[in-house]
Amino acid sequence: MKISFDLDDTLIPGCIAFPTEKQNAFQKLLGIERIREGTINLMKQLKTEGHSICIYTTSYRKTLAIRLAFWTFGIVLHSVINQTRHNEVLKEKKNLCSKYPPAFRIDLHIDDSPGVGLEGQRFKFRTVIINDDAPWANQILTALNMG
Ligand SMILES: [Mg+2]
Repeated sequence: MKISFDLDDTLIPGCIAFPTEKQNAFQKLLGIERIREGTINLMKQLKTEGHSICIYTTSYRKTLAIRLAFWTFGIVLHSVINQTRHNEVLKEKKNLCSKYPPAFRIDLHIDDSPGVGLEGQRFKFRTVIINDDAPWANQILTALNMG
C-alpha cells in the first residue's frame, strides 16, 4: 500500500504538543524540524511490510527539504506532495478538498484533522485520523490489521 502522512500536528508539533524523536548534532545544525516520537520505528516497520511512505501536506515546505529531513532520520520517502504539487495536479479541482490522495495513487492517508476524515468519507478515500485515545502508531497499525 501507498501510505501518506500529514505533517503539521500529525508528525510535526504545531498547535498540538507531543514528545519528539531525539535529534543529533547534524540535524540541529541543519535546523531539521522535530518529528513525533515513534515516527521512525513506525515508518521502518511499514516499509518492512512492503508499504511505501509518502508525505502529503497543505504547507508550502519544499519537497527536497522534507525529503532531506526524513533522510537524516534514515527514512527514504516514496513521494512528497506539498500544496504546490497538490495545486499542479488537481488544477481547477484544487479547492474542492484540502487533500485528495487518490490523485497520487495513495491508498491510505494519516492525518490529525477530522475535516480531512470527512473529506475522505465524501470523496471516497481512506484515512486514519489519529486522536489521543490510544498510542498513535497503534491506531495506524490497527487500521492496517498489523496491530
Ligand atoms: Mg495537520
